[in-house]
Amino acid sequence: MAWKALKTGCYAILGIVLAAALVAETGRNVTFAEKSGNKAAKENRNPFHEQKMKMIEKQIAARGVTDQNVLSAFRQVDRHRYVPKHLQHMAYEDRPLPIGEGQTISQPYIVAFMTEALNLSDTDRVLEIGTGSGYQAAILAEIVAHVYTIEIVESLGRRAKEVLDAEGYANIDVKIGDGFQGWPEHAPFDAIMVTCAPTDVPEPLKEQLAEGGTMIIPVGPAWDQKLVLLEKRDGKLVEKESLPVRFVPMVDEDGKTY
Ligand code: SAH
Repeated sequence: MAWKALKTGCYAILGIVLAAALVAETGRNVTFAEKSGNKAAKENRNPFHEQKMKMIEKQIAARGVTDQNVLSAFRQVDRHRYVPKHLQHMAYEDRPLPIGEGQTISQPYIVAFMTEALNLSDTDRVLEIGTGSGYQAAILAEIVAHVYTIEIVESLGRRAKEVLDAEGYANIDVKIGDGFQGWPEHAPFDAIMVTCAPTDVPEPLKEQLAEGGTMIIPVGPAWDQKLVLLEKRDGKLVEKESLPVRFVPMVDEDGKTY
């Protein structure tokens, strides 16, 4: 059922792209379409559109991600905008990629899996720890009301902010700092996503999660982490699910692992 719906969606979008390609022949119309934030014009500008659609179908939907909000977010966000220029041709491959400073943009499937696990709604306010490239923040921002994201490496945080601004995200705040402390000024959050691994769930993040809220976080020492899904019930975090993963460690400002 979901698979069929997805396929129909793909055809519909393909139709829009063809229409956009025809309009592109007359420069005036394209200018108007771009000014009005037209979706078709955005797709027309992405030279990797076909690769992106294939990534969504083969790496994400075929592996069991069915949440339509998540699949739609992946259609909206161009992953090549979030990787270094010389790696853009690899942006839609089934793998993480280096983004500088020894860090990586996560594999698309992991981004989709973690996003779906949070079961988000459009009124949610979400905290992300580990902005990295900004890609995950953009995916979240397509689904929820507001995203607060924290990156400890200044150059990465700055670059992510530049890209997110250029892509027009008015509902993302990027902060450079230590995400272990969370962002108390904006708490409580309906959901928290952590994309770097501490040994245990940081206390401040537990406190800043709203009652009934969900957190997804990789925990454990390097090489032996598990991705844990937690829900806050009666003020306590309850583990719902987990699976083995490998993430970069969460570090403090001296680079020491938490
Ligand atoms: N979500 C990112 C991938 C993140 S990789 C994306 O979509 O591209 C993990 C990131 O966590 C790295 O950029 C790393 O610098 C950052 N990080 C590690 N420790 C941190 C901390 N204490 N606070 C905030 N960010 C941290």
